[in-house]
Amino acid sequence: MSTETLEFQAEARQLLELMVHSIYSNKDIFLRELISNASDALDKRRLAGLKDDSLKTDDPHIEIEADKEARTLTVRDNGIGMTRDEVVGLIGTIARSGTAETLRRLKENKESAELIGQFGVGFYSVFMVADKVTLLTRKAGEATGVRWESDGDGTYTIETVEDVPVGTSIRVHLRPADEEDALYDYTDEAKIRQIVKRYSDFISFPVRMGESTLNSMKALWARPRSEVSEEEYREFYRHISHDWTDPLDIIQMRAEGTFEYEALLFLPSRAPHDLYQRDARHGLQLYVKRVFILDDSRELLPDHLRFVKGVVDAADLSLNISREILQQDRHIQLIRRRLAKKILASIKDLMSKDAEKYRTFWREFGPAVKEGLLDGTEDHKAILDIASFASTAGDEPTTLADYLARMPEGQDKIYFMTGDSRAQIENSPHMEAFRAKGYEVLLLTDRVDEIWVEAVHDYAGTEFQSITRGAVDLPSEEEPSPEQAEAYAAVLTWLNDTLDDVKEVRLTTRLTSSPACLVSDTDGLTPALEKMYKAMGQ
Ligand code: ADP
Ligand code: MG
Repeated sequence: MSTETLEFQAEARQLLELMVHSIYSNKDIFLRELISNASDALDKRRLAGLKDDSLKTDDPHIEIEADKEARTLTVRDNGIGMTRDEVVGLIGTIARSGTAETLRRLKENKESAELIGQFGVGFYSVFMVADKVTLLTRKAGEATGVRWESDGDGTYTIETVEDVPVGTSIRVHLRPADEEDALYDYTDEAKIRQIVKRYSDFISFPVRMGESTLNSMKALWARPRSEVSEEEYREFYRHISHDWTDPLDIIQMRAEGTFEYEALLFLPSRAPHDLYQRDARHGLQLYVKRVFILDDSRELLPDHLRFVKGVVDAADLSLNISREILQQDRHIQLIRRRLAKKILASIKDLMSKDAEKYRTFWREFGPAVKEGLLDGTEDHKAILDIASFASTAGDEPTTLADYLARMPEGQDKIYFMTGDSRAQIENSPHMEAFRAKGYEVLLLTDRVDEIWVEAVHDYAGTEFQSITRGAVDLPSEEEPSPEQAEAYAAVLTWLNDTLDDVKEVRLTTRLTSSPACLVSDTDGLTPALEKMYKAMGQ
């Protein structure tokens, strides 16, 4: 097949342009990205080899080769490789919609340097240092290879070639502009050594240069926490999560005994854009005795903790374990329960140790965590313990424990109201009596709030009570006097006859300044829930 010239997809072009004009001050990271991709490709080949012997390699590795004269740096792996279509689809476009979205926001909002830091730029970061990149690849199991080349200006060439070994080699033609600057001499062996050590030490395949292996390949989760630097954890997090921002918290655990496993988990510091999408990728990486087995193992976490990233290394599972088996494995279920408990306990610790981090966590992930209140899990109490809610008591969200501590004499319920926004709830006539009485009301505005309040009865023995439900027996709500009842009788009859959509119109002493408010039956839907069901077409 002859050489074709193709255009990068629009978003990819934009990202390339940012790279060419170097949005990062630290260019060293391009090498980390190439090694990270090579490592992913080696994982994939190993998995493919488990199913099909012919796809195996007995010496999986990554090789770096520098040529000072030609000013090139080549990163080669004997991983899974890519087909022609994959090269076009994976390298020529940005598949991750999160990146495309960040780019759009970046374009609209030019000055936001902070957004730039949110990119997981991956492969394209190579254009920070390159004026040309040549990629040669052959997919395991395919007869021919592919040669791809681009100078990062918006187009690339692609052709089918013979005699390419399985795997991928990426030759970086370093820009001449950086030649003077020793900082940017990526053909310098000491420089390369230092970058690999710093960013890619934990990579589980050897990264070789000439005769020497540059990385220790030590599994981070198997090392005592005191021996691992924060930076090493951060780099590991980046590698497994493809998230550009630093993790909020690190959770490490080890279980010994009949079923042994180690886990290294990370709470991200911001929610991914697809947190609430059904088909989004999430889950942990599963290893068996240091050997990578499965990516995105959802089975290892309950759904409401799906945003947690990390690794579980179990000692006693079969190396051939499949997703199907995973779903039923009793040990896996046990691990999931333990991890969930540990994660919730860590978040509780965070509340007291680092309130700021806790607030960030809850802002980003609270609505997802609250989904855990719906499914009758044993973790209800632990979830309510770490939850916080907007409340009439102040601008800052409150925990339920603090709410209980503030309850005045005579109040025996946790009052709440659900709605679209804080303002909408606060202006509701339902609030009046509670305001007058000095009772605090939780203002629940997440969609999931509508549902969990139906499922959860109490917190630490104190019942939840919607203030829009029928018999809110506010101690102050007195029966209307017989005189009042008589005075309004005619109006009530007329209203009851006229208002077809309302079940009953009755006299109340609940309101202090509004003339009327709508109340649901005790068993009926709250107005907001009714609205939600309507919106869903039910
Ligand atoms: P990410 O690694 O976050 O997916 P990248 O931009 O780094 O994003 O890489 C894009 C995709 O290109 C990868 O997901 C992978 O499918 C493919 N790819 C990149 N490098 C290699 C490689 N060395 N071998 C095989 N596939 C690769
Ligand atoms: Mg990558």
